[in-house]
Amino acid sequence: MDDQILVVNCGSSSVKIALFNRSGEPLVSALAEKLGQQDARLLPEGAEAVDLPHKADHRQSLAAAIEWLQDNGHLGNAPLAIGHRVVHGGEAFHQAALLDDDVIRAIEDCASLAPLHNPVNLAGIEATLELFPTVPQVAVFDTAFHQTLPRHAWLYPVPKRFYTDWGVRRYGFHGTSHHYMAEEAARRLGKPLSETSIISAHLGNGCSITAVRDGRSVDTSMGLTPLEGLVMGTRSGDVDPGLFDFLASKGISPEQTHRILNRESGLLGLSGTTSDMRNLLTSARDGDKDSEDAFEVFCFRLARYIGAMMVSLDRLDALVFTGGIGENSAEVRARTAEHLSLPGFRIDPSSNNDHGGTRNGTVSAADSRFKILVIPTREEAMIAREAVALATGEATANQSKNQ
Ligand code: ADP
Repeated sequence: MDDQILVVNCGSSSVKIALFNRSGEPLVSALAEKLGQQDARLLPEGAEAVDLPHKADHRQSLAAAIEWLQDNGHLGNAPLAIGHRVVHGGEAFHQAALLDDDVIRAIEDCASLAPLHNPVNLAGIEATLELFPTVPQVAVFDTAFHQTLPRHAWLYPVPKRFYTDWGVRRYGFHGTSHHYMAEEAARRLGKPLSETSIISAHLGNGCSITAVRDGRSVDTSMGLTPLEGLVMGTRSGDVDPGLFDFLASKGISPEQTHRILNRESGLLGLSGTTSDMRNLLTSARDGDKDSEDAFEVFCFRLARYIGAMMVSLDRLDALVFTGGIGENSAEVRARTAEHLSLPGFRIDPSSNNDHGGTRNGTVSAADSRFKILVIPTREEAMIAREAVALATGEATANQSKNQ
């Protein structure tokens, strides 16, 4: 068996795989996209695209991706361990878990809470179990880091039986990324994780924000589903729940509302043209009013949530930006901080423009009340680390330290 860790991240129509060495350094990655379509293909990093079987499913594309890794000398017979990103772990998982029949059953049980995600995550798990039956495999949950939320932060003010009968509550997502932000901020600030308090803003196609108090998640913007909270690429984030009734009165079905709020809202809904912040900023600079609106609403709501997250903290060591937008958009960071002058957040324009490149990620001004950091996320490396720790039995010490 090789000394490498395979990380598998199955989405609804794509599979990302990445190979890491035992120390968590990335070796190679590949994306299988357009699954289920005529032109499904594998895009290995830095190499030519490979056609996948006609209408390839998750199993076929994972098998093809692994064959590509082996044929191109990246992987020998089998990896040392395999880590799977699993979106929903419900209340069953406070940390990553070594896969066995009980764990698989518990992931199946959570599928009603994440019908778009858990079944495809399970398809990936089944595929690699079939390909590598003797390799230890680990599930790393997006929800696990948020299981430390206090009860007042996760209960919704709806009839209690919704929670007791159906598990309706705030779960939160992007936990692996927020966890990494807390660890990396602690490292950069020279403090132990258990004494580090941050607000972590993960801004990619999906966006969420988390308050981490003394190393533990205490509030987060995503809820029962990854639709709640911030404005996202195509997701609305928070809207008035009265909207559902109103749309029904206009003849829009619950299924259509679901699609509109998940796929046709957010930056795309407001701009009418794009869900991609880079394109949006270009058209806003060219004077497109709808793109300007989308940018302004995105930043205002983000700032409002940063203010809200402060309620859960008694000290703030840093506001941290990550994800494609958080890491790369100086405009978003600057505009958001402008809304936060009362609590005392101030950006240093020149550090912000180079994303903190010369100041170890720091983009705040010297007179800012709070530090503002830019930290690239490393979700897959975290999954690899958890996988190797559990697979080799090195987990207990690390995990008890982190939880
Ligand atoms: P995902 O959530 O799918 O992993 P990413 O974290 O890669 O997505 O983030 C994608 C978002 O990051 C897109 O909106 C993209 O436009 C934005 N982005 C990437 N680079 C830049 C940039 N230089 N300026 C502004 N936005 C950027």
